[in-house]
Formats: sequence, C-alpha cells, structure tokens
Amino acid sequence: MHEMALAQGILDVALKTAAQHGAVKIGRIKLQVGKMTHVEPDSLLFCFEALAVGSIAEGANVEIEIKPLIGLCRDCGKEFSVSGYYFICPECQSASVEIISGRELTVEHLEVE
Ligand SMILES: [Zn+2]
Repeated sequence: MHEMALAQGILDVALKTAAQHGAVKIGRIKLQVGKMTHVEPDSLLFCFEALAVGSIAEGANVEIEIKPLIGLCRDCGKEFSVSGYYFICPECQSASVEIISGRELTVEHLEVE
C-alpha cells in the first residue's frame, strides 16, 4: 500500500504548512503527481481522506495534477515526452536521457482558513 505512506507524507506537509500560517482549517490542496510515481489518484485520495479525519485537513478538497514524463537529452539538449518508458532521444537517438519531470509528488498549493 504505497499510496498510504504517500498520503501520510502529504498530510504531514499540509498540516505543517497550515500550522506555520496559523490556519484552523485546510480548504483546498493541490498536488502534483508525476506519472512515474505510479500513484493511483483515486487510491491516494481515499487514503488521504481516511488519514485526514480528525485533523484540520478533514474534508479538504484535494486536486491532483498528473505531471507527464519528460526527458531531457544530455547530448543534444532536446526535451521530449517519454512514452512507453522508452528513454531514447527522438532527435539524436542518444540513450543519455535525464528525467526532468514525472517523478514529483509535491503539495503545489494549499488554501487555508
Ligand atoms: Zn538528443
């Protein structure tokens, strides 16, 4: 249950951030989830809601934005979207590819009261 641990991490960040702002309630949380994290959004939401019960994040509206998998070729500098986990530069066929997006799992935005 990979999502449960991730949901706990997100909740911890959200509660900590809210506390720093003296918030009494978290209204909305926007998450960025990279495609490569293999997170099932529905499952993540379900876990989050279950964990948030009794905290100031209970009932918060959680939005998930899925970030596509983007590679950057180290040889020619081309950025391209990776499909089917085929990490080869479409421009120069180099296999020296760095993943620049698709692995994130972050709280992008938090609205508190
Ligand atoms: Zn290239």
